[in-house]
Amino acid sequence: MPHLGADVAAYVDGQLSASAMHDASVHLETCDDCEKAVRQQRLVKSRMSTVATPGPPAALLASLAGLASAPPVRERWWTRIGRSVPFRAGVVLVSASLAVIATAYAMGGAHDRIGDEVAPPYNRYAAEFDGPSRQRSGDVITAAAMDDLTDFGWACHDVLAGDLRRVSGTYTDDNEVIALQYTDGFARLNLFEQTGVLDADELADFRPEQMAGSEVWVRGGSPMIVTWDDDGTVFTIVTDVGRDRVERAVADLPRSSHERGVGDRVGEGLDRMSSWMGAA
Ligand SMILES: [Zn+2]
Repeated sequence: MPHLGADVAAYVDGQLSASAMHDASVHLETCDDCEKAVRQQRLVKSRMSTVATPGPPAALLASLAGLASAPPVRERWWTRIGRSVPFRAGVVLVSASLAVIATAYAMGGAHDRIGDEVAPPYNRYAAEFDGPSRQRSGDVITAAAMDDLTDFGWACHDVLAGDLRRVSGTYTDDNEVIALQYTDGFARLNLFEQTGVLDADELADFRPEQMAGSEVWVRGGSPMIVTWDDDGTVFTIVTDVGRDRVERAVADLPRSSHERGVGDRVGEGLDRMSSWMGAA
């Protein structure tokens, strides 16, 4: 059979006919290109399901925007978004902004809790870091796929902390984790990203600290491990670079839900709202 092409999303969603599913499965066993496309689609989908909000908080919007009631045009805009499946990154970003606003508003500054609790395998990450094989297992993420992942909100920077260059990117752990390796030629920094929120029960060995003005969890030693979550994504750094450079790397990565007080966040939400209301 030919490549999956436009059927990749339907395949991931299980919406192909039984025979087409079968044909696609057979094809995927021998076609690396399509297999990678399917893997990427799963990641993108998991990201979207994490950040998408179920419905429009119309009353919240009205009160935040200082409106007695939402004008019809805005209601229609909302209804449209509420009905549509967020296929485009722009829509996903709007939904994510609303989730931030809603959470900041409703929970009085409690951290965003979006998505399932996850516990990255910290000990395995540390063992792999020290292990004889420095090559990560998993499938290589192409540069094009890296760009697409970036478009969908994954942090896939070429450089972290000024001089740590990305030397590899792979999908690992049943393709639920993006693993990026950085180095300056001597020291190394491994960055893992997955959807979810940190499971606090698995952080007994860690202590909460401030890094670059944000709350993170740190396990000292060699390698040092730093982990945090932000808007439904868990970030974990495993590294032997010095603490100052770890802080710079953290500063380069998403951590908005932990770096400011609730007042600032609602203010930022209002800024974002006025920008998309102007655009709607
Ligand atoms: Zn193919």
